[in-house]
Amino acid sequence: MTERKAMTPDRKARILIAHDGKCWRCKEPFKHGDKIEFDHMQAIARGGSDDDSNIGPCHALCHALKTHGTAALRLGADIFEIAKTKRLAKGPKETKAKLPGGKQSKWIKKLNGKTELRGE
Ligand SMILES: [Zn+2]
Repeated sequence: MTERKAMTPDRKARILIAHDGKCWRCKEPFKHGDKIEFDHMQAIARGGSDDDSNIGPCHALCHALKTHGTAALRLGADIFEIAKTKRLAKGPKETKAKLPGGKQSKWIKKLNGKTELRGE
C-alpha cells in the first residue's frame, strides 16, 4: 500500500500551477467558486504514485463522475453527458457480479423466503 502524503495548501498550489489552473479531466480552467479536488490521475490501486506528478486538480463534479460513474449523471451536468458519450464509444465496461435478489439477477427472492429462478 502506497503511503499517501498530506495535501497541504502549498502542495495544492504547486499542483494547480503545474496544471495551468485547469481541471485535468475536462481541461476547463477553474472559475471563481468552483470546488477543486485533487485526484490521483493514475489510481494508487492501479500502481499510480502519490507524487505531485501523478496528482491533478479537478472539478468536484468531474471527480464525482469518476468515483460514482453514472450515478453522477443524475446531477444533470453537461460534462457528464460528454463523458458518458465518450465512455459508450469505448464499449461496455465490465459489470460487477450480480447479487442474488438484485434486479438484474436471474434469481428472485420470494416473500416466503425461497430463492427461485426468475420467471419460474
Ligand atoms: Zn473538470
